[in-house]
Amino acid sequence: MNSFQKEVQSRKTFAIISHPDAGKTTITEKLLLFGGAIRDAGTVKARKTGKFATSDWMEIEKQRGISVTSSVMQFDYKDCKVNIVDTPGHQDFSEDTYRTLMAVDSAVMVVDAAKGIEDQTMKLFKVCRMRGIPIFTFINKMDRQGKEPLELLAELEEVLGIESYPMNWPIGMGKDFEGIYDRYNNRIEQFKVDGDDRYIPLNEDGELEGSHPLMDSPLYEQTLDEIMLLNEAGNEYSVERIADGELTPVFFGSALTTFGVQTFLDAFLDFAPSPQPRQSSKGDIDPLSEEFSGFIFKIQANMNPKHRDRIAFLRICSGKFERGMSVNLSRTGKSINLSSSTQFMADERETVNTAVSGDIIGLYDTGNYQIGDTLTVSRDMFQFEKLPQFTPEIFMKVSAKNVLKQKHFHKGINQLVQEGAIQLFKTVTMEEYLLGAVGQLQFEVFENRMKNEYNTDVIMERVGNKMARWVEGNEVDEKLNSSRSILVKDRYDQYAFLFENEFALRWFQDKNPDVKLYNPMDGK
Ligand code: GDP
Repeated sequence: MNSFQKEVQSRKTFAIISHPDAGKTTITEKLLLFGGAIRDAGTVKARKTGKFATSDWMEIEKQRGISVTSSVMQFDYKDCKVNIVDTPGHQDFSEDTYRTLMAVDSAVMVVDAAKGIEDQTMKLFKVCRMRGIPIFTFINKMDRQGKEPLELLAELEEVLGIESYPMNWPIGMGKDFEGIYDRYNNRIEQFKVDGDDRYIPLNEDGELEGSHPLMDSPLYEQTLDEIMLLNEAGNEYSVERIADGELTPVFFGSALTTFGVQTFLDAFLDFAPSPQPRQSSKGDIDPLSEEFSGFIFKIQANMNPKHRDRIAFLRICSGKFERGMSVNLSRTGKSINLSSSTQFMADERETVNTAVSGDIIGLYDTGNYQIGDTLTVSRDMFQFEKLPQFTPEIFMKVSAKNVLKQKHFHKGINQLVQEGAIQLFKTVTMEEYLLGAVGQLQFEVFENRMKNEYNTDVIMERVGNKMARWVEGNEVDEKLNSSRSILVKDRYDQYAFLFENEFALRWFQDKNPDVKLYNPMDGK
């Protein structure tokens, strides 16, 4: 292996998926501390976005430089170069959150032990599943009373449909939390003990030897019973199934007290894949190939309102990026010089000079790029596989405030839709425009950018939450349109129904068995 290939192999690029408050920020911070990327705990936390009103958006974006700078956090740990790609959540939840998952090679799912699998985790999980990337589970907040660990495993299986393999197992929880029984390292890690004494090795039967106060605890006995149960009746350990995303290794810990996090990180890096090949129009692109290529998975606009510049985030899929290099934009055939690029670090934004497969770089964009664009030095200008369509869940009717500004209005909408900021649908009956999004923020950004970039005030009317299902074969009787099943066309002229709720969807399916519907996020 040459030095370039070694560089690529050292990359571990992943995202953390979770529901708000599960502890993503806390765990990220601890990971960065281990990696020496930040000096003080609290650095990431301080950057968390607060609540904000629509009108404040620009201002917030500016202040948010931070939440933006933490888009990718890179640090060295042991022999690895770790890239944590931030998945914006909370009020920031949007299609970009999903798209970020297209740019990583694995995902870490953080679950609050008391809450189990929550809504946002489930949505993000689905996207990871669709890609078949390995998913690692960290069950957090063991220092608090939570659900029974066996119940949590059952939930993973029932709610998410993924099998699990506990790499370690909690000994008690909450006030009685004693630590974890670490199956992977065959040791016990004690919660209430610091320093080297924290770890007690187990014998080959997986039991404590000699005398130890823990041996008298009924919790230890219970743990041994549960471990026996897992050994006998639990899922079998399989490195291949972990790699295929069919089996999730499960770790228990408490991010807040920095317990179990390093144990998790060490094991995670043993399993987390290095950059993987990517499908393209000319077959799989090998990350170890030296010919530079990558794709854009996210465009962040208005970071600097004065200049209206945007940052396009590019995942490098092969070769090496060098500042000032010329690349081809496959969609247009244009050659572009990558003179200014930014990589986002935890502590500061710094200009990056080189980066390799697996890394993510931010490119200044003056309007050249769209989401999904391929950049490559290859002369045959292949294209990476299209990014999937994500099912929008919230809808708004949109029109121009000033009828004389229709031209600006259409231009603005078309560009923003093409760029991937929001999805556009047209009702078949009234030819009204409906915007679809996965998060409220997308509407706010849309409204703001229409005003500032296209000089158009828009009227937005809430249509509310809908379940969007596309029509297979794209043939449908337009008379099936009703208020509870609104028939629309997407921007590719594909038919879809927007259902009032689950009930309306089922009712429709019962009445119209010939109309085959699908959800693009269920994978086909
Ligand atoms: P995020 O929204 O997923 O980024 O969650 P945060 O990291 O901000 O954590 C949400 C809240 O849970 C904060 O008040 C944290 O201090 C708290 N928290 C995080 N990890 C733990 C933990 O291991 N134990 C306990 N008791 N609280 C935690």
